[in-house]
Amino acid sequence: MKPFFLIMAYLGAVTLPLILSAWVGGPPRSYHQELASGLGILAFSMILMEFILSGRFKAISSGVGLDLTMRFHQVMARTALVFALLHPFFYQGTPSGGQRPWDPLRVLTITTDFSALSTGIVAYLLLASLALLAIGRTQLDYKYETWRLLHGVGALLIAVLLLHHTVYAGRYGAQPVMTWVWIALTAVAAGTLLTVYLLVPFLQKARPWRVTSVTRLTPKQWELTVQPDGHPGLDYKAGQFVWLNAGHSPFSMKENPFSICSAPAAGPEISFMVRELGDFTRTIGQIKTGTVAYLDGPYGTLSVDDRTEPGIALIAGGVGLAPLLGILRQMRLTDDSRKVKLVYGNRVIEQIAYRDELGADDLIYVLSEPPETWQGETGLIDAALLDRVFSAREFSQWLFVMCGPRIMMDGVEDHLINRGTPPHRILSERFNYD
Ligand SMILES: Cc1cc2nc3c(=O)[nH]c(=O)nc-3n(C[C@H](O)[C@H](O)[C@H](O)COP(=O)(O)OP(=O)(O)OC[C@H]3O[C@@H](n4cnc5c(N)ncnc54)[C@H](O)[C@@H]3O)c2cc1C
Repeated sequence: MKPFFLIMAYLGAVTLPLILSAWVGGPPRSYHQELASGLGILAFSMILMEFILSGRFKAISSGVGLDLTMRFHQVMARTALVFALLHPFFYQGTPSGGQRPWDPLRVLTITTDFSALSTGIVAYLLLASLALLAIGRTQLDYKYETWRLLHGVGALLIAVLLLHHTVYAGRYGAQPVMTWVWIALTAVAAGTLLTVYLLVPFLQKARPWRVTSVTRLTPKQWELTVQPDGHPGLDYKAGQFVWLNAGHSPFSMKENPFSICSAPAAGPEISFMVRELGDFTRTIGQIKTGTVAYLDGPYGTLSVDDRTEPGIALIAGGVGLAPLLGILRQMRLTDDSRKVKLVYGNRVIEQIAYRDELGADDLIYVLSEPPETWQGETGLIDAALLDRVFSAREFSQWLFVMCGPRIMMDGVEDHLINRGTPPHRILSERFNYD
């Protein structure tokens, strides 16, 4: 789906409960009261939409890219939190203790019925804690899987609490039409969790893969290859990625995103280039051939298929080579006539992977800590280096595809924009999902 339609669909979905509430209506109330309800309604619908944004829907991630979808998810979570925090402070009215028979539509009274308010208060505190835990996740240094479970269960709990609060304390939510609308929207949100954690694993079980090799590429990088077991494999584009689960039940949540570094034209086997980082990647060398694996994908928009630019610039930092290697391999296998240059940066010479295969033609190796005998480029992949490698015509006409550490990507992106590369000719992928 195109980004414009996705944005319109998002705005439509988020404002739908607000529009329906206005349509359901009721006797007029003060401006403050309506603002308070409006903020609460928007916060709840935005929270429900967060489930869709993080639900790995290909229609969304292939339209705007997963990076952008997740950044949007984070910004909207914070916006919803602000709306939710502000929402109770605008209410003015006579505390009623509960619903009054003479004011069924809560025109003059606001509820102080504790059971209706308590779910809102708990959701309010949970939402703030969830956002703070997500923002401080790396500083707090607890296991990614623990965080992911807490985030999912916490979000579901918030949705259910808010449903109760909206229906029992809200003026609009109490009306039957709106009660059903909120129940349906909450069910859709919960359904996305069930899809990711139950339906997708269930489907994966019928499409297992087997590990065929695990090879050390450099002291801290490995290549892991899997082949389909009893099915034709994956229909993917070079440069895309999957969630890989090797050696665990598909229902275990033990899966990590990795770019595919093999080329579709090479056949159904799929390879990954993996750098040791944490608890799973550090044990990759212990995976035995024949181990069952499951793949969820493909995802990602880092593809040069269907592009008409005359040349492709691939800019990789460290293990960021993985998706670009897939693209390069595919171009070589299909005799792609477009020009290609690969800039591949590492800290030390021992970290360069696939050197024999990559060769030297149109390949610019960069080392920030080179040995004395090093003949190639030195330093970082920065503005000066890019100016040495690419001509003014290449900057303006080629497609630039990059993957690597954040600092490299930010610097390269800034320089490309300065050099007049139009934003639609810059494709990038960041190796952080959350
Ligand atoms: C789109 C994408 C493509 C990637 N491609 C590659 C690749 O080709 N090669 C490579 O070496 N690395 C790649 N990564 C990074 C890789 O996913 C992490 O290094 C790996 O998941 C770390 O897992 P761990 O258990 O060893 O470490 P942990 O200590 O558990 O995690 C380290 C960090 O990795 C991330 N991470 C861990 N598990 C997950 C998960 N299930 N979902 C999302 N993020 C997670 C989190 O940011 C976490 O803080 C990619 C990441 C993304 C988002």
